[in-house]
Amino acid sequence: MNLRPRQQWGTIPLEPDTYGRSPLGTPLEVWRPRGRCRMLIFAAIHGEESETTLALSRALRRLPEPSPHCAVVLAANPDGLLRGTRGNARGVELNRNFPTRDWRPEPVAHRFTLEDPRDVLLSPGPHAGSEPETQALIALIGDLKPEVVISLHAPLACIDDANQSALGRWLAERTGMPFVADVGYPTPGSFGTWGGENKVPVITYEFPLADPDALVRDHVPVLVELLTRADG
Ligand SMILES: [Zn+2]
Repeated sequence: MNLRPRQQWGTIPLEPDTYGRSPLGTPLEVWRPRGRCRMLIFAAIHGEESETTLALSRALRRLPEPSPHCAVVLAANPDGLLRGTRGNARGVELNRNFPTRDWRPEPVAHRFTLEDPRDVLLSPGPHAGSEPETQALIALIGDLKPEVVISLHAPLACIDDANQSALGRWLAERTGMPFVADVGYPTPGSFGTWGGENKVPVITYEFPLADPDALVRDHVPVLVELLTRADG
């Protein structure tokens, strides 16, 4: 695929579909592929991780037409992104809200910064799968039937792939980041756990802690390769 000239990188030339609405009524948008969906990439299920949206948007803006095989969600948690919060507008940590066997009702503790203890609490929702964003993402995956889903996060600097797949290994080699089978702590109700229980292969692509220009320089080319790879 020929990429757009630099002069055109300011805008997204392609129109998204809406796959649901957030609790505030914000559209949940997906850029569908031209052909059969083999991959879904989504950013910002954690609204604090806006660098994932920036990088994925910049990759998408370089395509002259829809990806041949890859669906793109720039913000799985748009209200969190608007408000700069990890959770959605109801204060729910969406990445602990998925209906998994290990879903827990207790508050989820997370680190305010990478150096901090896990002492900031968020709700995993009143029940598993309670949130519109969670339900809509599950329905979207049921509709698209991707062979793999790539979930963008920051800033743990690793490629986390429970299946240790060839694509995960390629990403680790391409980015120079460690290839791991888990993030080293329990994540009940996470999207990755839901994928494992529902035979949806999930690769979690964790950007490093870096300034936005460095992330764009190092990771946008990788995302462009994912969006344009002929072999999916
Ligand atoms: Zn995250």
